[in-house]
Amino acid sequence: MKRYCVIGSPIAHSLSPAMHNAAFAALELNKQAHYEAVEVMPNELENFMSVFAQQYAGMNVTIPHKEAVMKYLDEVDDCARTIGAVNTVKVDGGKLIGYNTDWSGFTAALLEGIQQKSHLSANEQTSVKTIFQHKPVLVVGAGGAARAVCFALSQLGAQLYVTNRTIEKAQKLAHDFRGVALSHDKLASIEPSLVVNVTSLGMNPHEFESPVSVSLWQKWKHSKITQYSFDCVYNPLNTQFLKDSISAGFVAITGDGMLVHQGSESFELFTGKKAPIEAMKKAVVVKL
Ligand code: NAP
Repeated sequence: MKRYCVIGSPIAHSLSPAMHNAAFAALELNKQAHYEAVEVMPNELENFMSVFAQQYAGMNVTIPHKEAVMKYLDEVDDCARTIGAVNTVKVDGGKLIGYNTDWSGFTAALLEGIQQKSHLSANEQTSVKTIFQHKPVLVVGAGGAARAVCFALSQLGAQLYVTNRTIEKAQKLAHDFRGVALSHDKLASIEPSLVVNVTSLGMNPHEFESPVSVSLWQKWKHSKITQYSFDCVYNPLNTQFLKDSISAGFVAITGDGMLVHQGSESFELFTGKKAPIEAMKKAVVVKL
């Protein structure tokens, strides 16, 4: 039996075990592979990593270990190194190799969300990858996941703006990905084509909170262009951030797609098999 896990703290709420075990079952691998959640506190990471490869074939990594885990790995792929965070570790020939699938999962979910919500024609679908090229996009948040989102948006050629409660972190993030940091009082000066929430605001138990005020959404509202909002928070699905954006005419994309796509890409790294995305989506949707 090959064992996989997700480590973090807190971890009990994680949907990754349900999603990955559903994927193993869909490919009839559930007698050979199993995925579980393991609570690892910051002061336990070193001990856990010393025995990890003897017990597991791979793992996902979540808050608060995505950066700290890197020093225990033999190799880190280029994207994860640029982002500065690892969310997937594979044991390969005894070596621990780190990857980041948050950025590619975000890109896949964003483009899929746009295709689904905008009812694009076949021609328009091929051009969706260039939809944000040279367009102003705003990332709200500057933690580990925001770094992955900024990397993804820089790959899409967007004109990047970053804001954050702690402005120094936004400045560092903007500098690393050739963007511009904006303090809250400057946010009304841009006309964003996309606004992404990568803070933990809006997540249960802060579900009535949003890092963007209703009046700011109304100021951003543009009558001539389609504007998008994306929330990385997925529990609840319809966050205050998305509800307020919809009221201002934005097309809203929920965070469950990012969860499923980052998970499916980790699954493919773990198994070398094409991930059964529909089974993974179904396992997530029933839990939300
Ligand atoms: P993190 O490194 O802990 O960063 C948290 C961010 O939230 C920081 O920018 C922090 O601002 C901000 N924040 C926290 N409390 C706030 C408050 N009361 N007011 C304003 N800002 C506040 O976490 P992370 O790993 O980047 O994750 C961020 C979010 O993305 C979480 O909600 C997580 O669940 C979500 N996420 C979703 C997926 C997915 O698959 N959908 C994947 C990864 C992450 P300061 O810098 O000022 O502290």
